[in-house]
Amino acid sequence: MIEVAHLSVSYPAGPKTNTVLHDVSLTVPQGTVCAVIGPSGCGKSTLLKVVAGLIHDYDGQVRINGASVNPRSMKIGFMPQNYGLLPWKSVADNIRLGCSIRHELTADTDREMEQLCERLGIHGLEHRYPRELSGGQQQRVSLARAFLLHPDILLMDEPFSALDAITREEMQDVFLNLWQASNITTMLVTHYVEEALYLGQQIVRMSSQPGAVSEIMDNSLSGSRERRGSPEFFAMGQQLRLKIKAGREQDE
Ligand code: ADP
Ligand code: MG
Repeated sequence: MIEVAHLSVSYPAGPKTNTVLHDVSLTVPQGTVCAVIGPSGCGKSTLLKVVAGLIHDYDGQVRINGASVNPRSMKIGFMPQNYGLLPWKSVADNIRLGCSIRHELTADTDREMEQLCERLGIHGLEHRYPRELSGGQQQRVSLARAFLLHPDILLMDEPFSALDAITREEMQDVFLNLWQASNITTMLVTHYVEEALYLGQQIVRMSSQPGAVSEIMDNSLSGSRERRGSPEFFAMGQQLRLKIKAGREQDE
């Protein structure tokens, strides 16, 4: 479970400070996906970095399974916006990276990596380097790395944004397939309404200046291809889009 309570974050801006998150509270129950959606600059990445333990300077509380965030004792799977692959490492070494940093490489790791690669359709590419892969393939490598680690929580920062629409939808299914087998507690940041509706059992809508939570919705439309094609899904998408737009215009 991820608990964020009254989180405020400011960045230094010359002699002053710039408040980018103000009094953000949310809870991601164990074994669920929470989609965080909001306009560019509302502090989504900042929020994720705080939960990942990468930003320490903040007010409020952040707890993972009841304890303060500690990336050393906790396994936090963090997928940054640009996939986070190391260009000088092979696909296999990139996938094993999280486990090797934690000295958790065993004979089982390679067996599991092979299975993951097969499931993800990147089997046979293990000796290549990231630059020799398409965007979709790089994204699959990044997913394989996150899932091989068996993290306590998974944090994904606009994971599918750099992909074309068709590949993006494909990758959402690939993610969902893997996720449904593990139910890792996940926070997924996106600016795509359909992605939030398809993947998030809970949707947190944020507005900007400063970044704050505008609405938290339970979403019964997530996780199924059939529902994704339904008129209800379409209508919810339109509604959410209008709310995000209205929230943005109020800020301007
Ligand atoms: P989002 O991911 O929603 O686009 P970010 O969390 O990246 O938003 O950024 C929120 C605000 O904080 C933006 O105005 C951005 O310019 C600012 N910001 C982000 N990172 C830093 C930083 N390291 N130093 C100063 N300002 C930052
Ligand atoms: Mg961002």
